[in-house]
Order: sequence, then C-alpha cells, then structure tokens
Amino acid sequence: MKILVINAGSSSLKYQLIDMEQEAVLAKGLCDRIGLDGTFKHEANGDKLEMEHPMPNHAEGIKMVLKHLTDEKWGVIKDVAEISAVGHRVVNGGEVFVEATLMDEEKVNTLESLTEFAPLHNPAAVTGLRACMEVMGKDVPQVTVYDTAFHYGMPKTAAIYPIPYEYYEKYGIRRFGAHGTSHGYVAGECAKLLGKDPKELKIVTCHLGNGSSITAVDSGRCVDTSMGFTPLAGVLMGTRCGDIDPAVAMYIMNKEGLTPDEMSNLMNKKSGVLGLSGVSNDFRDLDAAAAEGNERARLALDMFAYQVTKYVGSYAAAMGGVDAIVFTAGIGENNPAMRNAITKPLAFLGAEMDEEKNNTRGGARVVSTDASKVKICVIPTNEELAIARQTLDVISK
Ligand code: ADP
Repeated sequence: MKILVINAGSSSLKYQLIDMEQEAVLAKGLCDRIGLDGTFKHEANGDKLEMEHPMPNHAEGIKMVLKHLTDEKWGVIKDVAEISAVGHRVVNGGEVFVEATLMDEEKVNTLESLTEFAPLHNPAAVTGLRACMEVMGKDVPQVTVYDTAFHYGMPKTAAIYPIPYEYYEKYGIRRFGAHGTSHGYVAGECAKLLGKDPKELKIVTCHLGNGSSITAVDSGRCVDTSMGFTPLAGVLMGTRCGDIDPAVAMYIMNKEGLTPDEMSNLMNKKSGVLGLSGVSNDFRDLDAAAAEGNERARLALDMFAYQVTKYVGSYAAAMGGVDAIVFTAGIGENNPAMRNAITKPLAFLGAEMDEEKNNTRGGARVVSTDASKVKICVIPTNEELAIARQTLDVISK
C-alpha cells in the first residue's frame, strides 16, 4: 500500500510517497515558488532532479508530482491508481477536527472556515486538498492529519486560560499546542526503543528546532504542552519570544506606538535568540559567535537551555515523575552541547548523560548512562511517516 503525504505551504508543496509495508520513502520532492516562477525538485531511484517549471497554482504542482511519480525515468509507480490515499498535514484543526479525518467537500469548507487559528498555514492546506481532489478525482481518499490532534485531549486544567471564561466559549481561545504529530511520533518511538508499553511511561518530549515545544506525555497521551493558542508560547525560539509577562507587550505598544499587528511581528519575528543576540536565529551561528566571546549569543544559548530545563522539570512535577526525556528536531537531534546543558541540572531527578553516547551521531538512541534512572533519548522526528501511518489508520477503519 502506498500513501502520498502532502505538506502544502502558501507557495510550496512538499511531498513524499511512502510504501507502508516497509515504511520506506519511494520518492520525495518539493514544488516551490508556486504562483511565481516555479521550481520543482524530485528525488527517486537514487537520483535527484531539479528544474524550473512555472506552476501557476497548487493544482499544477500536484500534476507535476503525479507526472513524475509515474514517469518512465523518475517514476516509482506505473499508475496513479497505485496511490491508496493522500495524507495532508494541517497545522490547526481547532475544536472541530480533533483527529485525522477523511475529507469531503463539506469538511474542506468547514476546515476553510477555521483559517483564523492558523492564518498562514491552514489556507495553504485547504488549497493543497482542493488541488488533490481536483486532479486525483473522488476515488482517492484524502485524509487530513492535524498537528493539534495529539494535544487535544489534554485536561482542561492545562488547556484553558485564566481569562473570563466567555472568551473560551465565544472564540474558542485555549491552548492548542503545536508539533503534535512530531511529539506523538517520537513518544511512540521512545516506547519502542525502551521496549516498553507506552501506557507504562511518563515522557517529556522536546521538539527543538526553529520553533520549539515541550510536551508531557503520560501513558501515551499528551497531558500538557508548552505552545499555546498560537505557536508563540512556551520557550524562547529562533525568532519568537515564548512566554513573557503579557503586560510587556502592552507597555511596548504604548511606548513605541505599535499596532497589534506590529507588536505581533516584533514578538514572532524579531525576538527569541535572534532578538537577544542580535546575531542570528540559527543555533549554529550562535555557537560560533559564543565561541568567539559574544556575550549576548552566550546569553541566548544559556537562556534557551535554562527555559527548556524548567519545562522538563515542571512537567516531571505535573506527571508525578518522568521515565524518559526525548530530544528531536534540528537542535534536539544535532546539538549535543545543548542536550547536555538542558539535562545537567536534572541530575536531581535521576537523569545522567553519557557524554560519549551524547557526542555520537546516529538514529534513535539512548544517550544516558546505563545507570540513569531517567532515560535520555535522541529520536529523529519523521512527521511524514507519522502522517502516513495516521492516514492508513483512517482508511483502514
Ligand atoms: P524548523 O523548525 O524550521 O523545522 P529545524 O528543526 O530544522 O527547524 O531546526 C533548525 C535549528 O536546528 C537551527 O537552529 C540549526 O542551528 C539547528 N540544526 C539543524 N541542523 C543542524 C546540524 N546538522 N547541526 C547543528 N545544528 C543543526
């Protein structure tokens, strides 16, 4: 069985065709600059193709993808009919789509009405969905997989904000969280790695990339997560401030005469480690600058570690213990110094890093000492595979 996974952006469309028997990627690629000049990248059969090709809209992008998936040289299938289903990544399903869902026209319209929860991402997903429905016809199931779904079941104590309750009822303002597909995936893989039933484990998953979020996973379910109503909340990130006293925003707006949109831009695009350091939002640049003695780059790195440590500690308290800490995404997978800085203060919980294992590269692995009570794991995330698995579950029902 083969599943096509689509991750549509406003002017891009990433895809992977996955063979579910082996969970192997048969082909993958990217339609970029859709609506502009158009570039197309495709990887299959051990070879890479890159070309300019005008794609006025997402439907033309999908046509390019299907053409190449069935191409004599670049193809991996003979006929589009070999694709059993398409899984679409959606950032936020609000309180309407709380699990992976088989879509029809009516549901796509409903999803379209939820765009204000993810103004940049959800409209792109709707465009990608409509493009697939148009090009592939009604016989191929189109399934949406939501980044918010893994977090949806968290208890109300973690989900609701202490503002007048009417705003939850009127506007649905609550904690949605983000990166849920990744957190759910690595928590599941962690249980496999440790040879345990997810029901026996309390795990804190740390998805640390350009955007970062931390999730408490008890018995396989999310019970709390650091991102909130939007992905601005939680720890400081590449360019986002994370949790700050909300009064700071009002104060700056008054002092600088900023509109809500301008303030939002300041907190989303100009803050975080970039705003602190004035150097970069990329942790590799910060490491280099700190090594050369840049104090603000050092401060940014130290603050990031400090805040992640605080979240892990607070989630251990919230769950009444922690069996494993999982690191994933760009920083989590590739930055041993950061993993070390985050976990060192957690020795009191029984987390002990094995320096040698931590400095060795590889796939999913345990990097704590054998004696460590809390296992520290590095698990490469694979959101596409997670989407394909959920898509398969939906069409198998
Ligand atoms: P996004 O949230 O955009 O998917 P990523 O998960 O790719 O972000 O994470 C980006 C961050 O990961 C950057 O700060 C970068 O420094 C770090 N990173 C990514 N790859 C590496 C690597 N090979 N070595 C060290 N750091 C890396």
